[in-house]
Amino acid sequence: MTRRVVGFLLVAALMAGGPVAFASDIGQQIADQIDVVSYQYYLDEELYTHYGHSRGISGAEHNLARDNIVEIFQGFGLQVELDEFEHWGQPGWNVVATQVGTVYADAQYILGAHYDSVDNPGADDDASGVAGLLEIARVLSQYETEYTIKYIAFDMEELGLIGSQIYVDDHLDDDIRGMIQSDMIAWDYGVYSAEILGRTASLPLKNALAAAINEYGNGLSVVVSGPSDGSDHAPFEWAGFQACQLAEQYRRSNPHYHTQLDSVDTPAYISYELAADCARSVAGFLADYAGVIVGPCVGDVDGDGDTDQADLGILLTDWGCTSDCVGDLDGDDDTDQSDLGILLADWGCTP
Ligand SMILES: [Zn+2]
Repeated sequence: MTRRVVGFLLVAALMAGGPVAFASDIGQQIADQIDVVSYQYYLDEELYTHYGHSRGISGAEHNLARDNIVEIFQGFGLQVELDEFEHWGQPGWNVVATQVGTVYADAQYILGAHYDSVDNPGADDDASGVAGLLEIARVLSQYETEYTIKYIAFDMEELGLIGSQIYVDDHLDDDIRGMIQSDMIAWDYGVYSAEILGRTASLPLKNALAAAINEYGNGLSVVVSGPSDGSDHAPFEWAGFQACQLAEQYRRSNPHYHTQLDSVDTPAYISYELAADCARSVAGFLADYAGVIVGPCVGDVDGDGDTDQADLGILLTDWGCTSDCVGDLDGDDDTDQSDLGILLADWGCTP
């Protein structure tokens, strides 16, 4: 086969798999990459959410879940710290994963959730939020962001917001632009709606997050409510930072709240879709506010502002070209598979 035929076959194979039609907006592109199957894997397989499991502070699975969270964040290439503290003689650990901003490294957005439970599997409360952190980090860690993002899995929330209060006390001088705590995002009362809780002072953040839910939430509804001091965003608000809680609406009506049946094993209980739509919204929010940086569209060979079929045609016409080739995107004097890879990676890219 000639190189051109090989090229065509390769493209045909890739096209059969379907180059994805990305939306033009980077927030939508990021939100679209949140994957409910991946989310479910984290919730079901990595966070000890099955019958009999306990992530209570002395529970058999508490430290196992903690270690899994550390390993998953590390697998994304993030800096991970295990911040140990002591409360009433018992050790606790906040897991802090950091994605350093490439433009405003000192200014940061924080995503939080808590991995401890009330001696139960705590699938909705709050492995659901932790799985969201992991899935959002999986997507965003593939990009540079202008602002720093910290993904924090707090400990000892159920003992009275202990881990988050200690974290805030240690970071009062940080430039925290917004903190979003996902706590209980995987149960559907039947209204397919999220709720955003926080003080009036946090209204700019609350409204921006609500707008992101409307934009990227895949049909998820949202209500914006007043303060709730019942989760790890509260110490951030008390310290004067903009912070809020994202939760399923009517979370207090969850029949399995703080019981052994708050488990992924309970039939017809967990709504992975609702949780994934919450994660999509937060990911889209961060894409916009933490400033996901998209590189120039190298694959846009004809310069029309979209990397599409026309560019692919130009590259294939140039296939095998060894000097002054428009299709030679990587400049190695050969228009070949590596150039095709670059073009496809850029598919749909709009500057
Ligand atoms: Zn909780």
